[in-house]
Amino acid sequence: MKFISTRGQTEPHTFTQAVAIGLAPDGGLFLPERLPDISPRLSAWRNLSYAELCNEFLALFATDVPLDVIEQLTRRSYATFTHPEIAPLKKLDDRTYVLELFHGPTLAFKDFALQLLGNFYGWQGEQTGRSINVLGATSGDTGAAAIHGLLGKPRTAIFILYPEGRVSPLQERQMACTGAANVHALAIDGSFDDAQNALKNIFGERDFAAKHRLSAVNSINLLRVLAQCVYYLYAWLRLAESERLNVEFVVPTGNFGNVFAGWLLQRMGVPIQSFKIATNQNDILHRFFLSGEYRIDTVQPSLAPSMDIQVASNFERFLYYSLDEDSAKLRTVMADLKANGLYRFENFDRDTFSSSCATDADITGIIRRVYERYQYVVDPHTACAFQELNRDRISIVLSTAHPAKFPAALVDAIGTEPTHPALDALKSRPIVKHLLPATEAAIKAYIDQHAV
Ligand SMILES: *Cc1c(COP(=O)(O)O)cnc(C)c1O
Repeated sequence: MKFISTRGQTEPHTFTQAVAIGLAPDGGLFLPERLPDISPRLSAWRNLSYAELCNEFLALFATDVPLDVIEQLTRRSYATFTHPEIAPLKKLDDRTYVLELFHGPTLAFKDFALQLLGNFYGWQGEQTGRSINVLGATSGDTGAAAIHGLLGKPRTAIFILYPEGRVSPLQERQMACTGAANVHALAIDGSFDDAQNALKNIFGERDFAAKHRLSAVNSINLLRVLAQCVYYLYAWLRLAESERLNVEFVVPTGNFGNVFAGWLLQRMGVPIQSFKIATNQNDILHRFFLSGEYRIDTVQPSLAPSMDIQVASNFERFLYYSLDEDSAKLRTVMADLKANGLYRFENFDRDTFSSSCATDADITGIIRRVYERYQYVVDPHTACAFQELNRDRISIVLSTAHPAKFPAALVDAIGTEPTHPALDALKSRPIVKHLLPATEAAIKAYIDQHAV
């Protein structure tokens, strides 16, 4: 199978190429040139373990990677999870399930994709004998998950920029207490935007990027989307026959990455009835699904910080399908959006999607109510998904993080602080970080010294 760019100005790439470069050279996002119909396989897949299912699914796309390599990468990736089912589906009541996606090393759903991506980079390094230096900017969860994906991998180094003093203490510890020599936690004297801007400029310097074989960590890699399809499929297969045709996945989302993976699976023939997009007070996606108008706004910090996003980068993939796979039209829309921060859509899959938005006050109230009703503790991101559940459907709420990652919000809501052994262990380890000014020169000098 080959992979094409949403913008239509890139030659079809193999799976390995598309994953290695992340963003397509024309600035677009990679997608399979056609989606397989997996509906005939579903009955044979129903009893597979998570890792087996992941192998079967990835093999449909990664046709240039040997099967035993796919198996090895999957096995390694999910061996770091602490729950035997990897993504356990918990029943809260007759209509409500929670899909727990926080049993990976950083206790958030990004581990599903970034463990796999890290192992893939490691394998590519072995194949080519070439090293790779991964560079990213983070406001928290993505950086931690990317670091744990590459921890101790040969021929790789990872440099993560984050704003000093502006990520949570636990998030910082997840990045800076790994003890791994190939991990560089770079605390920038500036904001997240300063870090992001410096990073963009560094990638823009082609000679420098080429010299160190710099690779970006971001949410648009094709492998991330495909890895995320698997837990929707796994959850759907766990349901009783009678439940499967009336399912709504409820997804806390900011940049549309997570929910897009589910929707793609529906297009591959899994009969998922609907998706509900749950935003925090940064409700660009909620407003879009209500009105058809996509309007970029400023970001307000919230209790669910990993969803504090206004530019939903994965939205471009959804748009591409909504415009009937017309790349020329897509390019016009993207140019419009860039120029005006606004676009009105005529045509998109309204039947499949609904949405909700939760303010910080809503989040605190929901954490408390869910706890009182089910004796179940949710984190602030997952809480957004419990806003107005659709009682006519079987709801599967995606739980994107372990509540112990957000102790302050939890104490406010229910008066106790949830704990997790992985986080407790971090508290006694030394923090190893490097303070840098938010200048390209300082960051480049650091990379020059430490790149592999
Ligand atoms: C990243 C993140 C999200 C949002 O993910 P999207 O890719 O924007 O859908 C939600 N919850 C948590 C805990 C996260 O780390």
